[in-house]
This record gives sequence, structure tokens and C-alpha cells, in this order.
Amino acid sequence: MMLDTFTIVFMAAATTFLIAILLGIAWYQDQDQRLLGWWSASYLLKSAGCILILLRGSIADPLSIDLANALILVGAAFAWGGSRVFDGRHMPVWTLFLGAVVWLVACRVPAFYDSFQTRAAGFSALYASYCAATAYEFWRGRADALSARYMLVVAHAIQAVLYGIRVPATLILPPPAEVMAPDVWFGLWVLMPIMLGIAAAVLVVAITMERALASQRAAAAVDTLTGALNRGALIEAAAKRLRTRGGPASNVAMLVFDLDCFKQINDRFGHATGDRALRVFADVVRSCLRVDDIFGRLGGEEFAVLLPGAGESDGLAVAERIRAAYSLKPIEHGGIVIRSTVSVGVAAAQTGRSSVDQLLAEADKALYRAKHAGRDRVVGPLALAS
Ligand code: GH3
Ligand code: MG
Ligand code: MG
Repeated sequence: MMLDTFTIVFMAAATTFLIAILLGIAWYQDQDQRLLGWWSASYLLKSAGCILILLRGSIADPLSIDLANALILVGAAFAWGGSRVFDGRHMPVWTLFLGAVVWLVACRVPAFYDSFQTRAAGFSALYASYCAATAYEFWRGRADALSARYMLVVAHAIQAVLYGIRVPATLILPPPAEVMAPDVWFGLWVLMPIMLGIAAAVLVVAITMERALASQRAAAAVDTLTGALNRGALIEAAAKRLRTRGGPASNVAMLVFDLDCFKQINDRFGHATGDRALRVFADVVRSCLRVDDIFGRLGGEEFAVLLPGAGESDGLAVAERIRAAYSLKPIEHGGIVIRSTVSVGVAAAQTGRSSVDQLLAEADKALYRAKHAGRDRVVGPLALAS
């Protein structure tokens, strides 16, 4: 079966145009999603290039060959640029035109321009490079673990390989009798990118939504005043950490904090100063923790920290470091300096052997004893009577 080249290029022009419009509308509705904007431009340019190719024979060659392929290459560059911008990398404007300029310069060389084979090989090499660069950019940002990213890498890697193979293939295979003659190879090399292009557009919308959802989830998990996890997120994160799968149980320590006589700070200096004290306390805690530690606000002026890998003595030491650091931390109020203190209860357990509720309840009891013993101190779990 022969694939009709004209029909396939027409399909390429129509589908890329439709995708450009859809991505453009999606971008217009949320212009922060720059990837959608870049990709809309990419498909629009590719579509324009395909339309010029369709007009081959009816319009001058510099338009249907030189300009047509240059537009498609700039389109591919926009897809690459979008993948860079998506991950916060810079995309200088001139780099968008690099491939197209190389192509247009090559077109000025008669030995290159006069043969369909060398032109197809040259174009394919440039197009393959853009697909490989786009695959690489999506791969580079994989730390965010967005699942559509991996599929985008695969879609672009396949295109890079297809066009990479086309370079030697066009030079070896016999050329078609006329440019728009039915040609199974040319057909496949346009048909495959159409399908991959549709897939990539769906994936680009998916990755945009995936990221927006992830950042909304992250924002919902954080207490806006202090930047600590909110109660629900803290309990969820701690519960996840306490579940051990397979491996040996390890130590964990839970610290519960309650700022001392906090009501007095609010009453004497106002709620805004109280809020400032809460922020200062959260900063002090963060400065004393490692990246794996889980820190959250239980509510009001009560906070908790889960220290994975820490035993009771480590928990007591970290709690003491935080207590001491906070008691020295000045809180400004209209030119005067207030000092505030914190009481801490510490509980310790092993992963897989205790629940978050049990640990919090135990740390809370220790905290209660700290308050009764005079505040501004750290109290650990009661030693069992022997
Ligand atoms: P203790 O030493 O026994 O813990 O005394 P306390 O005054 O700290 O205890 P209490 O629980 O009675 O007071 C907590 C106060 O924290 C009461 C509440 O108004 C205040 N508070 C709760 N949330 C916030 C907040 O977001 N901002 C401010 N400024 N105050 C808050
Ligand atoms: Mg309290
Ligand atoms: Mg308190």
C-alpha cells in the first residue's frame, strides 16, 4: 500500500493547526502556563510550514522549500524552548532561529539545494537535533517526578531516532520520481510525527495540569503564617514515615512544642506581635533541623517535629537546642525587644511499632510535665518504674 504524500502533509497541516488553536486557548485562559503558549506557537509554525509544502509547484521554491522547512525548524525550536522555560531555564531569542539559519544558509549551496535527498537529510539532521534537545530538557527536570514528563521524553526520543535514521536512509534509498509522488518512506516520516505530535500535545497539557495540581497540594499542606506543615499534612507525613516496609525498624523521636505564656504576648503587645513570635519560632526550628525532619503547626502556638532516625537522647538534644535558641531570639515590638520561651515534650519510638497519635499523646504528657515544672524546659518520656 502506498501512502499518499499530499494527503499526509495535508493531515499534518490540519492537525498541527488544530492543536495550535487548542493549546493557544488553554494558554490564554491561564497565561502563567507558559509551556502551553510556547507549544501553541510551535504547532502554528509547523502548520504554516506544512501549508507551504502543500503548495509546492504552485508557489516559488524559496517559499515552498526554503521558508517552509525553516518555519518547521523554528517550530521545533519553540517546542524545545517551551521545555526549557517549563523548568525555569532561560531561552535566548536568537537560539530559536539557529537551526533555521543553518538550513537557509545550506539552501544557498547548489550541491545541497538541487538534490531532494541532501535536503531531506539536512533537514532531518536539524529536526532530529531539536527533538533530542527537547527530550533532554524534559529528562533534566525529572526531579519533580511528574509522570507525563517521562512520556514526553520517550515521544521526543522516538522522533529524534526516526529523523536520525532518516539522514542515512534518504541518502541510500532511491529518491521519489517527483516531490509529491506516493512514497511509503516519506509518508511514514510524516505520519509518525503527526501521531507523536498529537500525543505530545496531550502530554504537554497533562504535565501542565500535573504541576499545577502538585503546587496546589503543596500550598494546601502549608500553614501560611509560619510556613510549617499544617496539622493534617504533618500527621500524614509523620504517619508515612512511621510505616516501615520490609526493612528493620529504626528510631524516631517526636517533639511537641508549646510557647510559654503566649496569651500574655498577645494581650500586652497585640496579635501582630504574637504572629511575629510564631514566625520567629518557626524560623528557629527550621534552622535546627535536617532536610528529612518533619515540622508542622498543630494549631495556635503548638508545634511538632518528627525526627526520623533519632533516638530519645537525640530527640532531647535537638529539643534543647531549639529551646535555647528561641529563648535568646529577640522579638521586636515598637522599638522594644521581647523575649519568649517554649516548653517541649519529647517521645521516642521505633518505626512500625507506634502510631502518630500514640507518639503525640506521649510527647504531650511530657510537655504537660514541662509546663508544671516551671516552663522553658525540655522533658522526655517517663522512665518505666522497675
Ligand atoms: P502556657 O504557657 O500554659 O502555654 O500559656 P499560654 O498563654 O501560651 O496558653 P494558652 O493556650 O492559654 O494561649 C494560647 C494563645 O495563643 C491563645 C490564642 O489567642 C493564641 N493564639 C492562637 N493562635 C494564634 C495565632 O495564630 N496568632 C496569635 N497571635 N495568637 C494565637
Ligand atoms: Mg497552648
Ligand atoms: Mg502556650
